[in-house]
Amino acid sequence: MNTSIQIGKIMGIPIKLHITFLLILPVFAYYFSVSPAPFGFNDVQLSIIRYALSLSAAISLFICVLLHELGHSAVAKKNGSNIQSITLFLFGGVSAMEEIPRNPKIEFKMALAGPSVSFLIGILLGIVYIVTKPADLSYTAYMFQNISDNPYLRLIWLMGYINIILGIFNLLPAFPMDGGRVFRAWLAGRMPYIKATRTAAGIGKMFAIFMGIFGLLAGGIWFILIAFFIYIGASEEEKSTEVTVVLEGVKIRDIMSKNVTSVTSGMSVEELVDIMFRFKHMGYPVLDDSEVKGMVTFTDVQKVPKEDRKKVRVSDIMTKELITLREDDDAENAIKLMTVNNIGRIVIKKEKQMVGIVSRTDILRSVQLLE
Ligand SMILES: [Zn+2]
Repeated sequence: MNTSIQIGKIMGIPIKLHITFLLILPVFAYYFSVSPAPFGFNDVQLSIIRYALSLSAAISLFICVLLHELGHSAVAKKNGSNIQSITLFLFGGVSAMEEIPRNPKIEFKMALAGPSVSFLIGILLGIVYIVTKPADLSYTAYMFQNISDNPYLRLIWLMGYINIILGIFNLLPAFPMDGGRVFRAWLAGRMPYIKATRTAAGIGKMFAIFMGIFGLLAGGIWFILIAFFIYIGASEEEKSTEVTVVLEGVKIRDIMSKNVTSVTSGMSVEELVDIMFRFKHMGYPVLDDSEVKGMVTFTDVQKVPKEDRKKVRVSDIMTKELITLREDDDAENAIKLMTVNNIGRIVIKKEKQMVGIVSRTDILRSVQLLE
């Protein structure tokens, strides 16, 4: 299911809205319309102006989140990373990068760029608010009184305030938030990258647990949700970093299985099921005279009714369009292809001949051995 819609491109990067974002936007607008000054507009008498201001605040909030994300992207692009897209979610933005640069200096700059943009917007709006002060009002009265008197200027003040909070919040050292990334980059200058990631992720998870407990005690559903996302994010990035770092420089030939049980395309499905029971693998390459014809898996077999298994051939149910790799390709490519295409094994070919196979199990085993 496609859960995001693209609204345009900025700096060549597709900007997408996630479905959760479209749901939360009216919720935020509603929140601003019922909250008192200075965090909302419930005192505005004319309802059309009240709703217009609240909706403007909600939309501005997400534009600010987008600008924060573009800050990260601009630095990433300048340093040669390819940004595939920026998606605005329930809790803000996520930039999809082909890979996060494993260079502490670049990562440091990249992580700081987002909060810097937020602080910059916050300070600019603060200045705009201050310079609009009428001459007959004192600064104290203007800062404390006027926010309540003028709802239009309050919108400017509120956006400035939210950007400063956004900047501070993102700098919390809870990996994978920006502050946690800065922390990991700092650690990575002093210890191996994996160890730095593990330490930062550990602290991120601890932060998430404390935040979750605080949310439970204080009844703050937002804290619980954010804590949950930080915890999952930290665990996932820790795992994927581990795998890519360990497999750096490793070639397909180093991790592939060479003694592969194969089947032929003329075999009946019944014979295939026998082989599956005997060798207990879920998928088999189909070879005719050692030339690769396709791949057949347990899922393909399940589609054939039991009574037809004698007459249906492997060639009728196998996948013919195969994704293959060569022995001297990087092992990392195998994981990328498996994840992107959601497949469990990749045939390794030398011209038309099969020389081996790489499965998820092969990769996991290699990662454990290499560690
Ligand atoms: Zn950020």
